[in-house]
Amino acid sequence: MTTTITRFAPSPTGRLHVGNIRTALHNWMLARKAGGRFLLRIDDTDEERSREEYVDAIRTDLAWLGLEPDGEERQSQRLDRYEAAFEALKAAGRVYPAYETAQELDVKRKIQLGRGLPPIYDRAALKLDDDHRAAMEAAGIAPHWRFKLDHDEQIAWIDGVRGAQKFDPAQLSDPVIRRADSSWLYMLPSTVDDIEMGVNQVLRGEDHVSNTAVQIQMFTALYAAGFAAAKPLPDFAHEALLIGREGKLSKRLGSLGCDAFRDAGIEPEAVIALLARIGTSLPVQPIADRDELLQGFDLSTFSRAPAKFDEGELDRLNAAIVHQLDHADVADRLPEGMGVEAWHAIRPNLTHVGEAGEWWRLVTGPIDQPAFSSEDRAFLGEAVAALDFSGEDPWHALTNALKDATGRKGKPLFLPLRQALTGMDHGPDMRELLPLIGEAEARARLEQAAG
Ligand code: GLU
Repeated sequence: MTTTITRFAPSPTGRLHVGNIRTALHNWMLARKAGGRFLLRIDDTDEERSREEYVDAIRTDLAWLGLEPDGEERQSQRLDRYEAAFEALKAAGRVYPAYETAQELDVKRKIQLGRGLPPIYDRAALKLDDDHRAAMEAAGIAPHWRFKLDHDEQIAWIDGVRGAQKFDPAQLSDPVIRRADSSWLYMLPSTVDDIEMGVNQVLRGEDHVSNTAVQIQMFTALYAAGFAAAKPLPDFAHEALLIGREGKLSKRLGSLGCDAFRDAGIEPEAVIALLARIGTSLPVQPIADRDELLQGFDLSTFSRAPAKFDEGELDRLNAAIVHQLDHADVADRLPEGMGVEAWHAIRPNLTHVGEAGEWWRLVTGPIDQPAFSSEDRAFLGEAVAALDFSGEDPWHALTNALKDATGRKGKPLFLPLRQALTGMDHGPDMRELLPLIGEAEARARLEQAAG
């Protein structure tokens, strides 16, 4: 059996945003579920716009998300491979030079659109004879290069998300694959890499569907030209795009990434639980166990309708995930001295791990007690006398004794005690909190409140 190999191929021209993160996650999941390999491919052929700081940021973000790749490749280090592929295609007559300027092409497109025609490149450059080309070059005009689609080879594939796809190559423009300064556009390097890196599952956004149509012909042309030994094409799948809650492709989503999540106290597991399932028929649930997410992961559950990303849903999921986290998961982010019992007592009150410190202060003090009525002060005086830490559950012992002694029950029984012991009207379960406060400190707080 062949090993499943997937890749996440960001261009390092900016930070990863939720849309990219979702694609990375799904490629990671495809590979993990199949026991395969997940590659990070840095698409950095655009020298001008690519930045090393973004390459580092991509690695850091993937590490924070726990989506570590099994290998990393960089297109900028593989230029000789693209050159070789280009030469093979050229020898096979599948690339041709073109000399139009951007403005000329723009005018052609406008004329076509004006006539109600699709703006497909008219292949004028294909009709140039050698003399024409020689004249252009003599005039110092360097060509850009187009891949020549085979109009007789209909394009079809079964898409993992979209089902049967068909394209008529005559309805597509021959894509420019190389600029006049000889730099590469995305189309050919990506195909060469998918061939040479053994990528057999290509999962990306639906904005790449027509690229896939072109690339399918490129794979076949490269094999036919003898560039590589032919093998089956990868399985292609295109996921619907991510939209904001308001139902639009929102600008905000384009800038929302790991830094923003981290700053807002969102756990990577909440991001993963949400992105793994939005846009699928599976319910979004606070699942912190990746194996559980992997079990249900299946492209057949993916919807063709856009996936809605809702920050409110992420917050709710985050709280539910925080309530499941073990002390060991968060120990390095907790205040000094906050142990397992304290974490368990405080955890249900948190929406973010970062709030733990505020609650922990109720244990360590100092606390601010409210002013008590004279009846409550008398009641709290009785509490001092009733305090008993000899048993398993001093809170139960205290409240039972006070109930018997004073006849109070419900709120009048519990609230003054909570206020005296923590300074708050609400908060973690007192049964768990009182042992953490400890006998001496609890006594001191009750005495102070009793006045
Ligand atoms: N660098 C391309 C992008 O970010 C990769 C697309 C692909 O997955 O092939 O859109």
